[in-house]
Amino acid sequence: MTERLILITNDDGAWAPGLDALARVASRFGRVVAVAPDRNRSAVSSAMSLNDVLRLQDLGGDRYACSGTPVDCVLIGIRAVLKREPDWVLSGINHGYNLGEDVFYSGTVGAAFEGCLQGARAAAFSIDTRGDLAVGETWIGTFLERFESMNLPPNRIWNVNLPQGEPKGFRLSSQDNRKYHDMVEERLDPRRTPYFWIGGEMGPTYSKGPGTDAESVLSGYVSVSPLRLDLACPEVLGRGAEFDGIFNGNAR
Ligand code: MN
Repeated sequence: MTERLILITNDDGAWAPGLDALARVASRFGRVVAVAPDRNRSAVSSAMSLNDVLRLQDLGGDRYACSGTPVDCVLIGIRAVLKREPDWVLSGINHGYNLGEDVFYSGTVGAAFEGCLQGARAAAFSIDTRGDLAVGETWIGTFLERFESMNLPPNRIWNVNLPQGEPKGFRLSSQDNRKYHDMVEERLDPRRTPYFWIGGEMGPTYSKGPGTDAESVLSGYVSVSPLRLDLACPEVLGRGAEFDGIFNGNAR
């Protein structure tokens, strides 16, 4: 059997300590190649560069910095660096949680989804901003040991969040809701012209609904959420007759 090939990336940038931690633990499971953004690209979701030249800097030791987004990194990693499909695409370890609706904005999660679209087994990892990466590494190691024992249907990834302290265990979790406060802040620059800053000073408030990612990780567990790319709502798709009555009933 050929050695397992693992592509890793993140959205915090190629020099983020979380990427080192992920590379270290992933190297126990195969050959690891890291292709990560050359700057912080947090909250770019699945953005792809269509009108920019992309540069790739070889940092040595199977590590590359790319001028693009996390999704660009996955595509360039697979097509230009590895030149074959990796077995795993792992993203992280993100500095800060990706819980609830964070997953729509997260570049960490976007990269994992791209890995899954490219045919790899994929997971995104995030840790509490006060979390200990060494502890995170140990738990991600345990997670990866079992990674291939539980198959997901196509177009699914695992979204893993690690708590602040020593985890109590793994917990399968759904997706919570969160609210940000002071979402847009307006200030004045030195010339008295207003400017805006997205994301206020207060962090998000999570609903912490039972069984959700936020409840799991905030009560000390490693939250493990299966996420799907297909966002269509089965409960609404089951209402075809009602839909036709409303949208096609009086149509001429
Ligand atoms: Mn980030």
